[in-house]
Order: sequence, then structure tokens, then C-alpha cells
Amino acid sequence: MTQLSGGFAALGLHPNILAAVIATGYEEPSAIQLQSIPVILDGHDMIGQAQTGTGKTAAFALPILSRIDPAKREPQALILAPTRELALQVATAFETYAKQMPGVNVVAVYGGAPMGPQLKAIRNGAQIVVATPGRLVDHLRRDEKVLSTVQHLVLDEADEMLKLGFMDDLEVIFKAMPETRQSVLFSATLPHSIRAIAEKHLRNPKHVKIETKTQTVTAIEQAHLLVHADQKHSAVLRLLEVEEFDALIAFVRTKQATLDLAAALEAKGYKAAALNGDIAQNQRERVIDSLKDGRLDIVVATDVAARGLDVPRITHVMNVDMPYDPESYVHRIGRTGRAGRTGRALLLVTPRERRMLQVIERVTGQKVAEVRLPDAAAVLTARIKKLTSSLAPLVADAEATHGDLLDRLTADIGCSPRALAAALLRKATNGQALTLAEVEREQPLVPNSAPRERSERSGERSERGDVRERRAPMPLADGRARCRTALGARDGIAAKNLLGAILNEGGLAREAIGRIQVRDSFSLVELPEDGLERLLTKLKDTRVAGKQLKLRRYRED
Ligand code: AMP
Repeated sequence: MTQLSGGFAALGLHPNILAAVIATGYEEPSAIQLQSIPVILDGHDMIGQAQTGTGKTAAFALPILSRIDPAKREPQALILAPTRELALQVATAFETYAKQMPGVNVVAVYGGAPMGPQLKAIRNGAQIVVATPGRLVDHLRRDEKVLSTVQHLVLDEADEMLKLGFMDDLEVIFKAMPETRQSVLFSATLPHSIRAIAEKHLRNPKHVKIETKTQTVTAIEQAHLLVHADQKHSAVLRLLEVEEFDALIAFVRTKQATLDLAAALEAKGYKAAALNGDIAQNQRERVIDSLKDGRLDIVVATDVAARGLDVPRITHVMNVDMPYDPESYVHRIGRTGRAGRTGRALLLVTPRERRMLQVIERVTGQKVAEVRLPDAAAVLTARIKKLTSSLAPLVADAEATHGDLLDRLTADIGCSPRALAAALLRKATNGQALTLAEVEREQPLVPNSAPRERSERSGERSERGDVRERRAPMPLADGRARCRTALGARDGIAAKNLLGAILNEGGLAREAIGRIQVRDSFSLVELPEDGLERLLTKLKDTRVAGKQLKLRRYRED
């Protein structure tokens, strides 16, 4: 445990839950977590005003898990979520935090999947039930006792649930639980309807709200981009091509994310390093010194590790992961625009985090303009501009120093000066894509607009747009085929696991593997068309995270 985990350690969580949180790489509790965890641990009812992106899931999951009795094999906590996507996400979060609590089981209950296995999982002793209201009511109709042992109830995104018309279902659910239960309600907004529910069904609830003082931000040009969570790395790489930065700090949420992004940037030739709470103090100082004197240009940091960082060279702050609250946003972007210079701050926003963006805009009193991801033409223009500015200063005296050599080489090779200059350019640019077609092939376009999420009820749509399963597939590069496996994030799979397995067992070179997209319930991998059948046969028995990969060619229609 690093000394930086002190923030979580002081909250009174069960030691095994604390251990799992630390293993997840969180360095310190977010504001909503700091305030909610002690209240929920104490058994109070609570109203938490917080939106997605503040860390609200852990704010209720960690204390509730700490209060679960693994020996009792019956539903002890019920989490209600407005949509299937959110229910799955919350269930996954519970599973992550319960990793070191043997005997704790989580079941997700939502519409569109068979009821039998869900009921079986509940009856088999799942202590945590994460459900959408409509489907849960269907279960109650079959077995009205199914919630009779619930001691903790959480209504997550309560305002969304009401917007989707779940009011009547909620009433049915409230009635099916013991009155002695603890009830916690999280909502981004507290309209009258939510207050009425709280009044009727919560007992002396404590209110937790993250105070957001108005903050002023000057001399910093702010912009945001909509991206999907799994496209962040490619979005960052594209942005870096066109943004003219001196030094840049990129903020992410976890230690692992600092390492992953720094490695991805280094692989592309950037002078980048990670800065997180696991890195020893003297090493951290070395990283900051290197950023100051130009041995490094990019630092990928967590909020904790970047505390107090003051490097005048920083022209850009990139919020790769959303900050938990507007204060930390203001704090982060204040790393640039130092010493009277102007700075630029970019914010990547996933569809579910749009609300957080609105809060930031409200608190800072400024609009954070939307920009589009640079297209291939913009990337190409930027590359040529860089090449021009690196060569222009050499032209003045190069002829004097190397002119004779040029004459000799053209004569020896028997080529024109243009042909030789072109060959030298090819060598100098190291195989970099420098035509539009090449750039397009290298970086398949990422769609800019974020699709919207369908709710559990047909015909209704929710505001959050994270439709991971229905997203339009990316265009395929020439010579590539898209393959699908039924393993996804919910199986504990990350892109690097798939990459590792395919590299090792398929005997492919890294370049042969294209985009890997990990969704909740499946993943897509781009592989070479040539020899695909043979490769799939080779991978027939490959297992990832203990499960059979079963990769198949995927047809979009
Ligand atoms: P939520 O607001 O619950 O949707 O959480 C947003 C994201 O923040 C999730 O990806 C969490 O895994 C992550 N997260 C939550 N708490 C922390 C923390 N204390 N440190 C780092 N990441 C966190």
C-alpha cells in the first residue's frame, strides 16, 4: 500500500474492500466518496446529489460491500439503475470491488435477457442484486418474497428513473422490502418528484452534495471532444499531431492508465513519462525536472501525483479522463497558462459524462467549446508543417556543406537531384505516412457523434448515450477482416489481454493486428484477411482470462 492510499484507509472500509480499491489503482477518494462513505457505513439513509463521473458508484458500492455478510447467502443489497447499460456497469464495479471478498456474489437483473438464470442466481445466494425496475417487478410477480431480506437499497440516477416512467414500479419495489432497510438515493438533480420519494421512503436522510464554488479561469482556451472510452488513446494521438504544444500534461484517473498512455505515447516517439503515486518521490522529481528542461514533453499523471506541479513550459493540459468535480478541473487546467502565458485545455468527454461537462461550464461560467477530432487531412497538414519547419532552417547553408556530395551521389547513382532528395526524405521521415491515403489507412476515422442509449423500455431513450453494443463499427482498413469473440469487459477482458493472446498463440507481428474494441459482452479485433482461416484454426483452443476465446469472422450485416 502506498502512503497515498491514506485517504481511503481513513474511511473505515472493510480491509478486503480497501485492498481491492488499492489494487484497482485509485489513489484517493473523490469528493462524493469522502462524504458519502462514512454516512453509508454508519447505516444512515442518504440523498447524494452527484452525477456520473464523480465516482458515485464507488461512493455507495464500497460502504455497502463493507457491510455485507458473505456468510448469508441471500439478497442483502439492491441497487436500482434506470438502464440495462448502467445496471451492468454498476454490477461490474461491485464485482471489481468485491474481488477480495470470497463468497460475495453479484447478479445483474435487466430486461431483454431470460428471467430464469437471473432468478436462479438470486436464489443461489447472490447478496448484491443490481436491477432495472421494470424487470425486477416482473420477478416480484413470480416471487413476491425475492426482496424480503434486503437491508440496503440504492436508487442510482433516480431522476433518470423517473424520467423513464418507473415511478409505479418503484412503489411496488419499495413495498417488497423490509421497512428497516437503509435507503440511499443518488440523483444528479433533485426535482420535486425526487424529494417526494425521499420524504415518503427515506428516514431522516443525510444530504450529501459537493459544493461547487464558482471558479474563474482566465488565459486558458478550453475545448472538449466527444469520444468513446475505448477510443481515447487514438483520439489523444490524433490531437497531439495537430496541437502545437511545448510541454503537455495529460490527466487520467488511475495509475495503470498513466502507465498505459505513457507507453502508447512513447511507442509513437513522444518523450513521455508516467507520474503516479506509486513512483518514488525522488523519481517523481526527476520526471518533473525532465519536463522542465525539455528532456520530456509529455507527462501522464493522476491528480494526486501532479499536485503542486508548476512547469512554465506547459502549454497544454489534456483531460483524458474526466475530473471528479469542477474544482479539480480548474485545478488541472491551472497547470497551464502560467506566468502570464496563454494555455490550452482539452477535455475528452464520453457520452455518459456530458452532464459533468455542463456542471463544469456552469461552475466556471464559461462555455467549453466542442471541437472535432482532427481528420486525416488535418493530420497530414500538421505533419507537413512540422517537416517544413524542421527542414527550412537547414536549407540556408546545407548547399555549402553538402552540395558537392549531392552532385557526387546523383552522378554515382545516376539519378536526378529530385529523386535523391525524395529518397533522403523517405529516409528522414522514417516511413511516416505522408499522403492522404496513407494517413487515412493508418488512422481509420473515429465517428465524432456519440450515439444514444436505448432504455430498457422500447421506444424510450435516455439522455446518457453509451450504447456500447449498438455503436456503428469503424471502417475497416484494406486487407483487414473484423473478428468477434463473445468475451468482453464483463468477462474481465481488456484489449491488452486479447492482444497478448493473439500475438503469442497466433504468431503474428504487432503491426498485423488492427483495432481492438472491447465492449461489455463481446470484443472486435481486426486481423489480416490473408491467412485468416488458418489463423482462426490456430487460435481455436486459445483461452483468455480462463475462458475460450472462440474468435470468429464478424459480418456487419
Ligand atoms: P462513476 O461516477 O461512478 O460513473 O465513476 C466514474 C469513473 O471513475 C469510473 O470509471 C470509476 O472506475 C472511476 N473512479 C471512481 N472512483 C475513483 C477514484 N477514487 N480514483 C480513481 N478513479 C475512480
